[in-house]
Amino acid sequence: MTPAMTHHITHHLPEPMLADYAAGRLGHAFSVAVAAHVSLCDECRARLAAHEAAGGAVLETLPPEPVSDDLMARVMARLDDPAAAPPEPPAPSSIFPGPVMAALKGRPPRWRSLGMGIRQSLLHAGKDGSLRLLYIPPGRAVPDHGHEGRELTLVLQGAFHDETGHFGVGDIEVADASLEHTPVADEGTPCICLAATDAPLRFRALVPRLLQPIFRI
Ligand SMILES: [Zn+2]
Repeated sequence: MTPAMTHHITHHLPEPMLADYAAGRLGHAFSVAVAAHVSLCDECRARLAAHEAAGGAVLETLPPEPVSDDLMARVMARLDDPAAAPPEPPAPSSIFPGPVMAALKGRPPRWRSLGMGIRQSLLHAGKDGSLRLLYIPPGRAVPDHGHEGRELTLVLQGAFHDETGHFGVGDIEVADASLEHTPVADEGTPCICLAATDAPLRFRALVPRLLQPIFRI
């Protein structure tokens, strides 16, 4: 275990989300956020392993499909082909775990100002939701916002607090559409978070709604 993984994590993933992740039912943005938390959290990694084992047990109860010799030969040939092997995931940087580095394609974040010193680096925006890094200066509030869908916020550096609690490195907040919250970065270190949504955000104060298509937030 590396020192980067010794954070005391108190906010974890809910069981149904781990089950959805294990079954491949989450969109890209949520999958990256879940994988990033799991990479930092021993507890959720163990719970995920249990889900994956349970999923495997279900598969084992299914009657075996007959596999043609031809298919088997092609599978074996592909396993022998080094070009067919998936690329190694990028090594975790000091604050970005492997799944975030993969979403960054190994490059540094490209920060864009949202005003008030707050910056974002958009990693993914699609019909299944959006994934971005947020940079919040010490003591600064992210404007009050609600969301149409669910929002996952994983702390990668610093800490923030809102109406629901305090979140440090490795903690993940799961907010549903009913939560209107105002995250405020702790004093000291700037807070950097990975934020994933399964629907477009609707900001109340910082950016007028008309500008949302431009910023794709
Ligand atoms: Zn956890």
